[in-house]
Amino acid sequence: MKNENIARIRICPRCGKPYSAPPALSRTDNETLFCPDCGTREALESIGVKADEQEQIINTIHRHTQNV
Ligand SMILES: [Zn+2]
Repeated sequence: MKNENIARIRICPRCGKPYSAPPALSRTDNETLFCPDCGTREALESIGVKADEQEQIINTIHRHTQNV
């Protein structure tokens, strides 16, 4: 039997971190898969949110989606 408990780990090409959550598709080339955080960063960036504000928003999202 296969071990279904092993999550599929990908490495995000944007931040270099491993992640197992469903990936986010890059808006830039519609091809590259990012981790969900970078997907959020890219979306925020596209509406003019600065990098430090992006991190604050991502931290807030993490606080509301803690299910580990
Ligand atoms: Zn990433």
